[in-house]
Amino acid sequence: MNAPDAWSAETDPRVVIRWAMEEYPDSLMTSAFNLNGVVLIDLAAQAGYTGEVVFVDTGYHFPETLQTRERLAARYSQMRFVTLSAGLAPEPWGEERYRSDPDGCCAARKVAPLREYLARKNPSALLNARSRDQAATRAGLGFLEPGERLRVNPLAYWTREQLEAYARTRDLPVNPLYWSGFLSIGCWPCTRAVRPGEEARAGRWEGQGKTECGLWVGEKAL
Ligand code: SF4
Repeated sequence: MNAPDAWSAETDPRVVIRWAMEEYPDSLMTSAFNLNGVVLIDLAAQAGYTGEVVFVDTGYHFPETLQTRERLAARYSQMRFVTLSAGLAPEPWGEERYRSDPDGCCAARKVAPLREYLARKNPSALLNARSRDQAATRAGLGFLEPGERLRVNPLAYWTREQLEAYARTRDLPVNPLYWSGFLSIGCWPCTRAVRPGEEARAGRWEGQGKTECGLWVGEKAL
């Protein structure tokens, strides 16, 4: 039965996506085109999603990430790939704010463009690709998160092994950096490959006391 009270950790993500499309036809998907994001786009295509896939170009993405975006847009032409640009004027704090003030950098380059876009579109729900095993801070994630607008997390219970197996089976255009140890890929100044045994997001903002960009956690979260 396609209703949240009948779901369990084993519920197919496509069931969750179809439910969101039925309940909230104006749902949007956000993506950074990591492994999770690529898998979610493919599952959403199977579920009949033809809405927007919104990506924020901070100006600091790896070329491989931008190439992945192009490959996805070509493969899933039934969806509308939207790229938001930080579009910032020259920064009074210099070009390397990510060193001195990474929270402020993420707030200006990631969170603000997406918040402005969502304020204009005002979707009822956001599909996104986060999962429990990406980081200890996400260990309690469920399929649905109420908030300013509903967040729908169809991959909440999928493990990295499941995601990789699915991507291989479907021959998905995964960011090539992933297979070099970049299990979570953000901006190049704030991302490194993870070491064996580390959680997927251990390579983000190393040494900066920061684990999230602010899109999903914090007072300005979506
Ligand atoms: S991830 Fe780093 S470079 Fe990208 S917006 Fe955040 S602080 Fe700036």
